[in-house]
Amino acid sequence: MAKTLITNGTVVTATGRSAADVLVDGEKIAAVLEPGSTLLGFDIAANVDTVIDAAGKYVIPGGIDAHTHFELPFGGTEASDTFESGTRAAAWGGTTTVIDFAVQTTGQPLEDGLATWHERAAGNCAIDYGFHQIVGGVDDASLKAMGRLVDEGITSYKMFMAYPGVFYSDDAQIVKAMQKAGETGLLTMMHAENGPAIDVLAEQLVAQGKTDPYYHGLARAWQLEEEATHRSIMLANLTGAPLYVVHVSAKQAVEQLAWARDKGQNVFGETCPQYLYLSLEEQLGASSAQWGAFEGAKWVCSTPLRAREEGHQDAMWQALRTNDLQMVSTDHCPFCMKGQKDLGIGDFRKIPNGIGSLEHRMDLMYQGVVSGEISLERWVELTSTTPARMFGLYGRKGVIQPGADADIVVYDPKGHTSISVETHHMNMDHSAWEGFEIDGHVDTVLSRGKIVIDGNQYLGVKGDGKYLKRGLSQYLI
Ligand SMILES: [Zn+2]
Ligand SMILES: [Zn+2]
Repeated sequence: MAKTLITNGTVVTATGRSAADVLVDGEKIAAVLEPGSTLLGFDIAANVDTVIDAAGKYVIPGGIDAHTHFELPFGGTEASDTFESGTRAAAWGGTTTVIDFAVQTTGQPLEDGLATWHERAAGNCAIDYGFHQIVGGVDDASLKAMGRLVDEGITSYKMFMAYPGVFYSDDAQIVKAMQKAGETGLLTMMHAENGPAIDVLAEQLVAQGKTDPYYHGLARAWQLEEEATHRSIMLANLTGAPLYVVHVSAKQAVEQLAWARDKGQNVFGETCPQYLYLSLEEQLGASSAQWGAFEGAKWVCSTPLRAREEGHQDAMWQALRTNDLQMVSTDHCPFCMKGQKDLGIGDFRKIPNGIGSLEHRMDLMYQGVVSGEISLERWVELTSTTPARMFGLYGRKGVIQPGADADIVVYDPKGHTSISVETHHMNMDHSAWEGFEIDGHVDTVLSRGKIVIDGNQYLGVKGDGKYLKRGLSQYLI
């Protein structure tokens, strides 16, 4: 078994930072040692196969992106990253685990949806992966199937209060599913937007000739996120189901989460880099020589980017500091402009919803450390340790300690990363983050002990990534 020593670095975990050497034996972390330790009775550096000098660098647990959509069917097309291209891009960005969403479409048996996702992922991933299950149709058969998900290593499922006719579940279906989840310990992940009301507003805007991407943001008003967030909290309260609200973007939705958490309810929330950095005015309202006002389509996602003048972005950073939001995932769901997003020229409702951010999450959140929004430890907690605990991977993932999988990132705070479509590795014809400059750089990435990124070289291999059977959330009391 190959041994690797990561030496001279600063190990950063969710609870603190310290100078320490990390000894990797095969796929696992064998020891975290005082630098130069002779505790093992021999000169460690002289007895390993590889020494990684991390002087001046941070040594952190590999990123866990708990919200990705590879090959997701949406609006007559499919998200443009495959499990192969997506997990490769993740590795480049210091993410060593993804949790993707297996999809059950309405009318399809739940198990068939899950089997399809296993087929798509198996043998194609460069890093480890797990699944949440999208429940697209609640009936007796799928409720029964939900009861078996925990045995499959799937301990969380997602429902949608938006997208009528596609993924939508009404309140009756949500209550039934939450009752089932309450019995089994499954975590309910909710897309909390009032879809039927959004569809009315969107139809009225289009009828008025307001068809540009900007109006996607207006149709998906913050009131409809706040309302759905509150409704999902109350249905969870009623049924005793633990609730995790995905991609929170409105400050009023955060207030609802904080209110429920302050009462002691098992309620959690994630936001995404786009809701911290990007806005309705600057991105959805953008125009370019190539696309005119359709430029904004690059940033059409749901929940939508919100008005900076209303202060949502600042409120998201604040909520990450105060733990009203606990995690940052990407909701990575990339579509190209040509042949995909352009389906919605003349009608924003037909623009496939999604942004590609998987490769940049660790960098974008590190920039929050540089700018003083979050601490170094909170960076690790938001991007790795909490996702591991939230989704039943902790101990193997999300931590640097003996016995954990050797998923490790050496991050260089003196490095620099310029984000561009010219240099990214996601399968997209544009970057939602074009021109963003990061005061740091992913230097080395290990996935279960194997170096997959070495400086600017990719050494990963598709098929090395394994399916992760997940346990129950560690946050439930
Ligand atoms: Zn969603
Ligand atoms: Zn999503």
